[in-house]
Amino acid sequence: MAKSKTKRAKPKKHHAAVEPMLEFGNRWDYSPAPESTPVPLKKRYSLYIGGKFVAAKSGRVFRSVNPATGRKLTDIAAGDREDVDLAVKAARKALTGPWGKMPAAERGKLIYRIARMVQERSRELAILETMDGGKPIKESRDVDLPLVAAHFFYHAGWADKLEYAFPGKKPQPIGVCGQVIPWNFPLMMAAWKLAPALACGNTVVLKPAETTSVTALHLAEIIADAGLPDGVVNIVTGKGSTGAAVVQHPGVDKVAFTGSTRVGKQIAAATAASSKRLTLELGGKAANILFDDAPLDQAIEGIINGIYFNQGHVCCAGSRLLVQESVYEQVIHKLSDRIKTLRVGDPLDKNTDIGAINSKAQLTRISELVDSGVAEGAQLHQSGCKLPGEGYWFKPSFFTGVTASHRIAREEIFGPVLSVMTFRTPGEAIERANNTCYGLSAGVWTDKGSKIFKIAAELKAGVIWANTYNKFDPASPFGGYKESGFGREGGLQGLASYVDIS
Ligand code: NAP
Ligand code: MG
Repeated sequence: MAKSKTKRAKPKKHHAAVEPMLEFGNRWDYSPAPESTPVPLKKRYSLYIGGKFVAAKSGRVFRSVNPATGRKLTDIAAGDREDVDLAVKAARKALTGPWGKMPAAERGKLIYRIARMVQERSRELAILETMDGGKPIKESRDVDLPLVAAHFFYHAGWADKLEYAFPGKKPQPIGVCGQVIPWNFPLMMAAWKLAPALACGNTVVLKPAETTSVTALHLAEIIADAGLPDGVVNIVTGKGSTGAAVVQHPGVDKVAFTGSTRVGKQIAAATAASSKRLTLELGGKAANILFDDAPLDQAIEGIINGIYFNQGHVCCAGSRLLVQESVYEQVIHKLSDRIKTLRVGDPLDKNTDIGAINSKAQLTRISELVDSGVAEGAQLHQSGCKLPGEGYWFKPSFFTGVTASHRIAREEIFGPVLSVMTFRTPGEAIERANNTCYGLSAGVWTDKGSKIFKIAAELKAGVIWANTYNKFDPASPFGGYKESGFGREGGLQGLASYVDIS
């Protein structure tokens, strides 16, 4: 390379003298680092029934959109009642046939094989998850996919040890399981549903969410390649009515649903007069309780992770922050500074912290609830970041001046919006945290171990994190109290939902 003739200035001693001091939010930006691995996205995706990829009987398809652009990604088969019926029949045939007759240890080997193949294809699956759902690649790659593999690994180990899990019993599969899942952790929710069902010897008809069906159909390829007998896993993509057809089908013995409390209530009503087993994993409005003795910087990171992780599309998101009054000013100051540094944008960029909102409908819902917060008198604080011109986006936000009666304190926003409130005593914190119709999760931040045990014992929430947030492990049961549902997923308790021990 030719040497530049321009006379170089002598290097200065201090960086501060080279560049003016920059405000928070006005830092040098990272260079773009978009993921460039090519991914095999098909033009059209089929249903997976009886071991074959087939079109919907009606021939209909629906569009899947990339929420970061608002543009169509692909077409997906729109299954309906007739397709669900075929899937349930295929599942029954596999149950009474090869799968039902297979020794448990062989079943376990096949589930291990799925886990390993997920690991081998994790890059591709992470990219597809990000393109179809809008979550940052660093989350799909470093959180979702490792957990998907971990769930299959964990449950594969149980397949031939069920009599140790339920000593003195003869655990049998329940039968055909109808499973309906949401869009916020598409593959992870599929793994949470499929892995325990298969480990316990059941067969499955799975309905993914309409906006995020792509990765479930790539998982179907893995399941086929792993050599599971035809019909053990069937995937019927479609809309809410397809989910309703799965739930209502008389050939389904157990229904497992993850999604909104509204639909969960409909499913509870639809299955009430049947002998179907039911587990419901529904919404949440978790409180993160921050005591004045907590290490504040560490707590702020956990609180940020608790609400802005995955654009706040997290059922167990710490969407209410309860701060002890003595540190309130300090916490608000730190929170304002920190949200300014969160990077919002291209989900395929490895530097992105907050990706796209999953759908236009969800963006409308978030905006409507945020507007209600402003109208009811709370103060809205937002990052000054620029949002991309196309696609669906929402700035990381938090509200102060929130009262318990505000909608933003009661309803699940399911977006990157935090409602901050205060308390004076531990008793007041517990009372406020429990003042909700939900009970999925909660967080406690304090330096004192004894306080953690005391508070955790009194919180009505299925999962309680202490000095951390949003940590998952397949061995640890997850599930709710009250309108957050019933039944557990993960661990021994999760297995119990998929065996007949009567
Ligand atoms: P949703 O509207 O309840 O949908 C969930 C699933 O149910 C989707 O596959 C949906 O299909 C399907 N569905 C819609 N109407 C149905 C009906 N009448 N009968 C049977 N299935 C039906 O929930 P979402 O908006 O996708 O997900 C967000 C909600 O899930 C939030 O409330 C969140 O808290 C909750 N969630 C809970 C957990 C947990 O473990 N507790 C985990 C993740 C999410 P379409 O996609 O076609 O509408
Ligand atoms: Mg999509």
